Amino acid sequence: MLHQKLFFKDLLDYSSSKSTFLEKVDIKSLSRLSEISIDDADGNISISATLKLNDQLNPSISGEINTNLSLICQRCLGPLDWSKKIIYSIDFMNESHDQGGQNNIEYISINEEGIVLLDLLEGEVLSSIPMSIMHKNIELCENIDKLGMFLRSSDENTEKKNKPFSDLSEILGKDSN
Ligand SMILES: [Zn+2]
Repeated sequence: MLHQKLFFKDLLDYSSSKSTFLEKVDIKSLSRLSEISIDDADGNISISATLKLNDQLNPSISGEINTNLSLICQRCLGPLDWSKKIIYSIDFMNESHDQGGQNNIEYISINEEGIVLLDLLEGEVLSSIPMSIMHKNIELCENIDKLGMFLRSSDENTEKKNKPFSDLSEILGKDSN
């Protein structure tokens, strides 16, 4: 249901019979989310959804999305685990019946091109991610680890390069005190 294209009539059918579903979606099938995730991460989102008619007898979808993502910290570019519960509720409207008088209700107008629910819900996740997402605390950032890795990987050249690196370690040691 999530992956296929649905038209207003389909949404109406599912909602009239009150459909619920639970699905775990691999991050690799979500192009916009995988763009901002760590390349080789096995992220996913779990979507629970109920399709039912709202007070205006239009289809609506609501539920929660639990994310299990490895995003890229905008400060250190290291992996940042982002687990969040997103509560959502979206009403649909048939575009041809859109009178423009629903000012106070947030809804999505469905035209003859239909809609893919997964795209919609991916958008809900994207809009919940802070613009410049980063580790909560600079001490959680990867800079120190990266430097450590760099030093370890340079061990083979230690003899030649030992001195500049030990100087650097000294400087960093002073900074952190
Ligand atoms: Zn960071």
